[in-house]
Amino acid sequence: MARIVMKFGGTSVADIERIANAAARVKREVEAGNEVAVVVSAMAGATNQLVGYVDQTSRMYDAREYDAVVASGEQVTAGLMALRLQEMGVAARSWLGWQIPLKTDEVHGKARIEEIGTDNLDPRLSNGEVAVIAGFQGVSPRGRITTLGRGGSDTTAVALAAALKAERCDIYTDVDGVYTTDPRIVSKARKLARISHEEMLEMASLGAKVLQTRSVELAMNHGVRLQVLSSFDDKPGTLVVDEDEIVEQQVVSGIAYSRDEAKVTLVKVADKPGVAASVFGPLADAAVNVDMIVQSVASDGVRTDMTFTVAKTDLERAVAVLEKNRAAIEYEQLIQDADVVKISVIGVGMRSHAGVAQTMFRTLADKGINIQVISTSEIKISTLVAEEYTELAIRALHTAYGLDAA
Ligand code: ASP
Ligand code: MG
Repeated sequence: MARIVMKFGGTSVADIERIANAAARVKREVEAGNEVAVVVSAMAGATNQLVGYVDQTSRMYDAREYDAVVASGEQVTAGLMALRLQEMGVAARSWLGWQIPLKTDEVHGKARIEEIGTDNLDPRLSNGEVAVIAGFQGVSPRGRITTLGRGGSDTTAVALAAALKAERCDIYTDVDGVYTTDPRIVSKARKLARISHEEMLEMASLGAKVLQTRSVELAMNHGVRLQVLSSFDDKPGTLVVDEDEIVEQQVVSGIAYSRDEAKVTLVKVADKPGVAASVFGPLADAAVNVDMIVQSVASDGVRTDMTFTVAKTDLERAVAVLEKNRAAIEYEQLIQDADVVKISVIGVGMRSHAGVAQTMFRTLADKGINIQVISTSEIKISTLVAEEYTELAIRALHTAYGLDAA
C-alpha cells in the first residue's frame, strides 16, 4: 500500500464529465489499496475569468481581495470532485487551504508555502478517506486567503506530497508527458521517459509550460518523484526523478524557448567602475528582472555598449527607469528590441561533454541565424536570436543534437 498525490489540472476538470473521468482514476488507485490525496485546479478558463472580474472592478486592486476572488475556482472543483467520489462509493472530503492548514507567507497573489499541517489529513487518509484539496491557495499568518501564483496548483501538489511523505506525485494534465521540445514546432519531438529534476527545472523556467517552476524546485529539494501524464489516455507519462535514477543520459535532453524576452542596448556607456551598478540598481528597485547580460570591451578605452534582456512585459518599465536615470548612467543612446526569442539547450550531460556549445553555434550559423546574446550555466546554453527564426532554429537544433524521433 502506498500513499500518493494525484493532481488534476484545469483541462482535466474542465466540466462535469471530465471531473467524473478524473474521479474514476482516483477510484482505481483507491481500489488498488492506495491512500490518495487529490489536488485540483479550477475548471479550465475559470481562473482567467475571475482575474478578469477583478481587473474590471479595480485597476489598482487590493491583493487580499484579488486572492479572495481568484482562489474560489478551486473551491468549486474540490467540492464537485468530493461529491463525485461519494457518488461512486468512495469516501471523500474536500479541503480548502485554511482547513488543512496550508500556511503561507503574506505575499498575496504570489505567496510561498511555509508549512503544511498534516494532523487533520493523516488520520483520515489512513482510514481510507480520499482528501480532495483545493490547489493554488493557502492561508496567511493573519488568517487571510492567499494564492500561490498562476499555475500554483502544481506547487500545492508537490508540497503536499513532501509533507505527507507520499511515494509519488502524479500530475495529470492535457499533454501526456515532457517532450524534447514543443511538439507544435517540431513534429519529431519525442516524449521523454525520464528527466532529472534539475533539467526539468531549467525546462520549466526557460519556457516549457508543463509544470510551474516553483513546483519543480520543491520536488528537487524534497526528492519528490513526479510523474507528468495525461488524464485522457492510459499511456505512461514522464517521470521527473533524481539524476542518479537516469541510467542512459543524453548530452542534451531538451530544447526550450521563450518569446517573453526583450533586449535593451545602452550605446556608449562609460567603461568605468560603478556603471553596471548604476544601470541594474534602479532596475532592481523597480522590480525589473534582468536575465542575460553582455558588455563589450571599450574599443577606445573609454566607452562601451551594454546589452541585456528583460521580460517583454517589463520592457516599458525598464526603458522608463533607464531614461529617468540617463544623467547618472551617461549613455549615448538606448535601443530596444522586443522581437527576440531565447532558445536554450538543456542537459546534465553537458557537465561531462565538451563541444555542446560549439554544436549550437555551428548549427545556428549554418542557417544564417545571428546570435545576439549568449549565456550559459552548468547544464544549459541559452542564445538570443531574432524572433522570426524561432521555428527554424529549434528544428535545426533538435536534429543537430540527435533528438529527432526515428
Ligand atoms: N487555477 C490556477 C491557475 O489557473 C492555478 C492552477 O491551475 O495551477 O493559475
Ligand atoms: Mg498548470
